[in-house]
Amino acid sequence: MRTKVQRDMSESIVPPEVRPKPAVPAKPPHVAAPSPTAPHGPSGLGGGFGVDRVPGLGHSGSGSTLLGYIGIDTIIEQMRKKTMKAGFDFNIMIVGHSGLGKSTLVNTLFKSQVSRWSSGWGGEHKIPKTVEIKAVSHVIEEGGVKMKLTVIDTPGFGDQINNENCWDPISKYINEQYEKFLKEEVNIARKKRIPDTRVHCCLYFISPTGHSLRQLDIEFMKHLSRVVNIIPVIAKSDTMTPDEKNEFKHRVRKELETHGIEYYPQNEFDDDMEDKNENDKIREAMPFAVVGSDKEFQVNGKRVLGRKTAWGVVEVENPNHCEFALLRDFLIRSHLQDLKEVTHNIHYETYRARRLNDNGGLHPISANNTQESNL
Ligand code: GDP
Ligand code: MG
Repeated sequence: MRTKVQRDMSESIVPPEVRPKPAVPAKPPHVAAPSPTAPHGPSGLGGGFGVDRVPGLGHSGSGSTLLGYIGIDTIIEQMRKKTMKAGFDFNIMIVGHSGLGKSTLVNTLFKSQVSRWSSGWGGEHKIPKTVEIKAVSHVIEEGGVKMKLTVIDTPGFGDQINNENCWDPISKYINEQYEKFLKEEVNIARKKRIPDTRVHCCLYFISPTGHSLRQLDIEFMKHLSRVVNIIPVIAKSDTMTPDEKNEFKHRVRKELETHGIEYYPQNEFDDDMEDKNENDKIREAMPFAVVGSDKEFQVNGKRVLGRKTAWGVVEVENPNHCEFALLRDFLIRSHLQDLKEVTHNIHYETYRARRLNDNGGLHPISANNTQESNL
């Protein structure tokens, strides 16, 4: 089933295919009814916040006698309900020269036709003369949670003879979204919920040459890594042997390090040791070498997404075949909220501070300062 392209949230909402594994965590643990006799709250009120337990919160001063359950832990259930009602925005940008499988990959990630320019869409797709920015929004619902997904495609990037400064329109678009958000924030009568069009993640597609990064790749990531979360991926990795792939990944990591390019998850934003250990593993495995496909095949009695070759089917979601599943789990199942938080707390905050400083701090921002985006 195809997810209908929606430019506007008020249009009809078409849910995607029913999928066996939800992209959101399964139901939270059942919250037991408050019981005055319960010796412990359902999940306990452990430490970990660097403060002493407060007498009356189930513990006496010495930390052992319990006076009863209050119900503080129900905040989780309350937050879950609110999030379910409100839904959330997630905006993903795809960059890389044409034919690298960008549209196919985002369609594979979200298991529906979320990118208009996939080869599967029919119609002729001409390469534009300059970089274009095309944003398309969809509402995807799973397990009762609504996500407004916006895919921002950048056709024309890297396709010209002279690619000098071809990241300019991209950088401008990203800043325009920060500006839009800032304008809403400094309004006296501001909206209860500011629509979030800021780019939470930029998937940068590296060509599977097996050699090294191109100058353009380096320049783009250098310029943009300070304003947006960049996740580099190696496109069409089925075109390389496992040895070539590993060697290429290693080389790309080295080159990124040599040029001081910080991609997501950035070292400096690790919250604590647990976060650092988890992110170190991810950083060591990056850039993920992916394969995309919107076609299904029958393999060992199961229907799988894959690419059929003369030697068999490359299974997109099989971790022995490529790293698509690693990317999907990282991007959606473990780090989606963090991508949004780093965007808000680091990238947007940097923009905001600079903008308010330049502006003398207090003056309202002129409405003519930025162009409207095409959203
Ligand atoms: P885009 O221009 O970067 O958006 O690329 P498309 O998603 O339109 O894909 C361009 C062509 O590459 C299509 O014929 C796809 O079927 C093919 N393609 C997409 N992903 C892959 C992949 O992972 N491996 C291989 N071998 N081909 C792919
Ligand atoms: Mg495309």
